[in-house]
Amino acid sequence: MGKVERDEDGTIAGLKQVAAQFAVAVTPHLQSLIDPADAKDPIARQFLPDAAELEVHEHERGDPIGDDAHSPVPGIVHRYPDRVLLKLVNVCPVYCRFCFRREMVGPGSKGLSAEQLDAAIEYIAQHPAIWEVILTGGDPLIVSPRRLKEVIARLNAIPHLGVIRIHSRVPVVDPAKINDAMIDALKSSDKAVWLLLHANHAREFVPDSIAAIRRLVEAGVPMLGQSVLLKGINDSPAALTDLFRAMVANRIKPHYLHHGDLAKGTSHFRLSLEEGQMLMRRLRGHTSGLLQPTYILDIPGGHGKVPVGPGYAEPNADGSWTVTDPWGCSHRYDDPLGRE
Ligand SMILES: *Cc1c(COP(=O)(O)O)cnc(C)c1O
Ligand code: SF4
Repeated sequence: MGKVERDEDGTIAGLKQVAAQFAVAVTPHLQSLIDPADAKDPIARQFLPDAAELEVHEHERGDPIGDDAHSPVPGIVHRYPDRVLLKLVNVCPVYCRFCFRREMVGPGSKGLSAEQLDAAIEYIAQHPAIWEVILTGGDPLIVSPRRLKEVIARLNAIPHLGVIRIHSRVPVVDPAKINDAMIDALKSSDKAVWLLLHANHAREFVPDSIAAIRRLVEAGVPMLGQSVLLKGINDSPAALTDLFRAMVANRIKPHYLHHGDLAKGTSHFRLSLEEGQMLMRRLRGHTSGLLQPTYILDIPGGHGKVPVGPGYAEPNADGSWTVTDPWGCSHRYDDPLGRE
């Protein structure tokens, strides 16, 4: 892990190299939210490139969550029996500096061709165990409403599908895209369309993005929040509380808090699992139950997502349990049904 050489002004040489290696894009909407006077601006830190990205740690990898190993046809990732990812595009309106798919997404990468989309949809149709399709990528809401409506219609024609899920950052990074045509495309589905919004800081919730979220929720689209735990952005109880309150106040249920994936050049965003668990403990009991997401690790190598605590119940040798309350005190719990 080499130390980055910086120019006298601290950045320029490194930044050019970063932009050569990883995609860079910031929407005008987000640019308007950045406070130039704030050196620790949480919007700038998420989207503006940093020379620290050139420091690649030995544990970091090109495919941190092992998508490649589970891709039967282009555009499909089938790791869990009942659900698949369908990656329509590999582009995003913005490029998060900590992106777990940063080696795959970017303006140079191609989306699915018409033939590849046919083959991906055929794969779903041929596998009755698939109950849910997760549109991701790339950001699926970057495609035109007309194309999205077409894809939704084709998915609606597959009887064994129960739900269409969309993973998107568009409502907070480019809220103008949630226009009438987009709402119409989402409402055209007979199957439930769920939207998982990726947001990491309360500052992403401003009048324009709040209005976009409102249009979605009022169109009958249930919304869940997913966030990434990021050093210098949301690594305090106050920042997480503000973020999850902003979600809940806008009718979005915080769902997953992801432990940062081991993507290349992202070590400056990384917290330890222990720090993550400590933050989760601080939320439990101190803030509404509606605010509590599940803290998730995507096990490197494609082994799946699992909750990583903190745990509150420990088995004792005598068959009882020790349960910790939200304030850190331990209590004995005798389960009337005992333990194996
Ligand atoms: C994250 C992910 C899913 C969705 O998992 P959930 O726990 O249902 O959110 C599905 N397939 C793949 C390959 C994934 O990486
Ligand atoms: S929106 Fe998602 S896929 Fe796109 S750059 Fe950000 S984290 Fe990566």
